Amino acid sequence: MKPAPFNYIAASSLAHALSLKAEHGDEARFLAGGQSLIPAMNFRLARPAVLIDINGVGHLAGVDRSNRAEIRIGALTRYRDLERDGDFLKACSLFADALPHIAHPQIRNRGTIGGNLSHADPASELPAIAVAMEATMRIKSATGERQMAASEFFVGVLSTDLQAHEMLVEIAFPTPKPRTGACFMEVARRRGDFALVGIAVVMTLDDARRCSTVRLALCGVGETAVDVSKVAFPLIGQSCTTETIEAVAAGVRDAIAPSGNVHASADYQRHIAGVLAVRAISAAHQRVRHAA
Ligand SMILES: Cc1cc2nc3c(=O)[nH]c(=O)nc-3n(C[C@H](O)[C@H](O)[C@H](O)COP(=O)(O)OP(=O)(O)OC[C@H]3O[C@@H](n4cnc5c(N)ncnc54)[C@H](O)[C@@H]3O)c2cc1C
Repeated sequence: MKPAPFNYIAASSLAHALSLKAEHGDEARFLAGGQSLIPAMNFRLARPAVLIDINGVGHLAGVDRSNRAEIRIGALTRYRDLERDGDFLKACSLFADALPHIAHPQIRNRGTIGGNLSHADPASELPAIAVAMEATMRIKSATGERQMAASEFFVGVLSTDLQAHEMLVEIAFPTPKPRTGACFMEVARRRGDFALVGIAVVMTLDDARRCSTVRLALCGVGETAVDVSKVAFPLIGQSCTTETIEAVAAGVRDAIAPSGNVHASADYQRHIAGVLAVRAISAAHQRVRHAA
C-alpha cells in the first residue's frame, strides 16, 4: 500500500522543526530514519497530515563525551554511527551487545536512537538499555525544554510522555562507574527480529568485589521496558555466586507478566527471561572481574 496524502516539509533548523510541530501538533510527525514511521504510513496505521523531516538538522546527531559524568547522544544519531564508534561502545558496552540485534544493516544505516526511543516499541532493545543505564531524556519544544528519567519516559505500548509539540533532542547516559560490567542478551526467532525477550544488566562491584548496585531491565515482556532492578537484592553486598544469581533469576521470573504472542507463550517468555537473567548477570560479572 501507499501512504495517505501528506504535506512534506524539510526543517531547516531545530527552531524551524519545533515551530512547525507547535503549529501542527498531533497532525504532524517528525521524520527521522523513517524505519518505523514509513512502514506504518504505508500500512495506513499512521496518517500524519504533515511530515517534518529533521534529517537536515545536523547538530541533532553525534556523540558528545566532553562532560565526564555523562555520554550525550543526539537524537538523530544513527545506529550505524554508534556501531562504528569504538570509544562509545567501550564506554557503553550494552550498545555493543545490542546493536547487532537491531534489524539489519540497511535499517541500521538509517534508523536513529531518537526515533527508536520515541517510537517506544516494548520489544525494542534500546528502551530497556536506557532504563537499565538510568538515562536522561532531554526534550525541547518551541517554548522551552525539560528532561526526565528514561523510566518515566515510556508510558505504554508505542507511547511516551512526549507531548504533541515536543521533540526528543538528546539522550544522556551516565558514564559507568569504575568496576562496572554490563551485558545485553536476547532471544529472537531470527537474527534481526524484535526480541521475544531481552535483558540488560549493569553491575557495579565495590572494593571488596561484592555487588554494590545491579540494574536489570527487560524488553518484550510488558507494555514498556520493564525495570526489575528491585529483584537483584540477593546480590547486593554479596559475592556473585551461582546461588545468588539463581535467586535473582527466580525473582525476575516472578516480577514479570508477559502476555505471550503469536511466536511465544507467556510461560515460554517467563522461562527465557530467567535463563537470560542467569546468563547475562554471569557475563556482566565476568566482564567486570576481567576489567577490574
Ligand atoms: C524489518 C525491520 C526490523 C526491525 N527490527 C528492529 C529490532 O529488532 N529492534 C528495534 O529496536 N527496532 C527494529 N526496527 C525498528 C527500527 O529500529 C526503527 O528504525 C526505529 O524504531 C525508529 O527509528 P527511526 O529513526 O527510523 O524513526 P522514524 O521511523 O523516523 O520515527 C519513528 C517515530 O518516532 C517519531 N520521532 C522520530 N524522531 C523523533 C524525535 N527526535 N523526537 C520525537 N519524535 C520522534 C516519529 O515521528 C515517528 O512517530 C525494525 C524495523 C524494520 C523495518
